Amino acid sequence: MQKICLLGSTGSIGINTLNVIRENKHLFQVSCLTVNSKTELLSKQIAEFKPEVVVIRDEKAADNFRKICSSKVEILSGEEGLLNATRDLEYDILVSALVGFAGLAPTIEAIRRKKRIALANKETLVVAGKLITEMANKNGAEIIPVDSEHSAIFQSLVGEHENSIRRIILTASGGPFRHHEISELGKVSVADALNHPNWSMGDKITIDSATMMNKGLEVIEAHWLFNLEADDIEVVVHPQSIIHSMVEFIDGSIKAQLSIPDMKLPIIYALGYPERLKNSFTVTDFTKIGQLTFFEPDFSKFECLKLAYDVLSQGGTAPCILNAANEIAVNKFLTEKIGFLDIPKIINDSLNKIEVVSSPDIETIFDCDRKTREFVELNY
Ligand code: NDP
Ligand code: MG
Repeated sequence: MQKICLLGSTGSIGINTLNVIRENKHLFQVSCLTVNSKTELLSKQIAEFKPEVVVIRDEKAADNFRKICSSKVEILSGEEGLLNATRDLEYDILVSALVGFAGLAPTIEAIRRKKRIALANKETLVVAGKLITEMANKNGAEIIPVDSEHSAIFQSLVGEHENSIRRIILTASGGPFRHHEISELGKVSVADALNHPNWSMGDKITIDSATMMNKGLEVIEAHWLFNLEADDIEVVVHPQSIIHSMVEFIDGSIKAQLSIPDMKLPIIYALGYPERLKNSFTVTDFTKIGQLTFFEPDFSKFECLKLAYDVLSQGGTAPCILNAANEIAVNKFLTEKIGFLDIPKIINDSLNKIEVVSSPDIETIFDCDRKTREFVELNY
């Protein structure tokens, strides 16, 4: 029986993870669930999965929940609660599914303890990929990607040598604005941007998909997970989201992983690896899919994708600046304070204004994240 600590249990990945666990209760047991503030759903999850500990990051929500919770579960709160749970609790696998920079610190705690990390929180690798991969290698902590593209590459690499990879091809749906002209993008609404054609996900990653920043973050994530240079990581728009990504080897052969889009698949793979676990989730019917198509991404329309490649070449704290500026800009777009095209503009401005530190330690990364957030909050 594997014990699971699930960070972000009320989110899109969190709920899918619990769907996977529900079908595999003979294999997995929940030891900890964490949320930001959605205690109503948490309450139902506690009743069903009976964790020993829950963490509610929002202190006010935690205080209210303590008053009404009838279960014996231990309730921790705040960022300190998240760190205490990941540092002290007994578990085997950390499912890292908080959104944004907030996922970094608790994921580090689990790596220090040599746990398996089922990593959905790509921002952890974007902001601190060098330190995280070094720490994981040193401690022997496995990082198994949950991001569907990286899971596809990971699965395609089983049994292969690292030095036989020629390049990887990350597929991208292209998001809701694939057919829009640049001139139309300035006017798109929040509802338009949240209307993803293939995936149902949390708001932040859905907006990142609309700007194609998500694919940019994934290029950086792939760089660290698979030890490849930016030139060897290609993005191809594949609107059907059936091929989740591909690896081309030095002999010209290409391996890919395919299925209809369903995050439960990469989650169950990360939890069960190296075993494959039977499930009732997905049937891929190629006769219904009909055709698979591929297009070049438009870097001038989706400037965020280009910016992500740029910061990857630049290195140091540049990806951290990009990530923090993006998080705040996306928030501002979601609350209708800025327009869609202000997102890349704010990131660009932040990269021009904030000094890049070339070989940051972890404190420098936290400092850079804070400074960038302050800069964006103050100026936009
Ligand atoms: P959601 O927004 O749906 O869920 C986020 C979860 O984290 C919720 O449980 C939320 O709690 C909690 N949370 C949010 N902010 C904080 C915070 N500051 N501190 C502590 N907890 C917090 O996100 P997703 O599930 O869509 O995404 C999670 C991660 O997985 C992201 O990094 C994303 O890029 C990645 N990912 C997601 C995919 C998807 O299909 N959704 C696909 C591939 C990667 P509450 O509900 O209380 O607000
Ligand atoms: Mg992805």
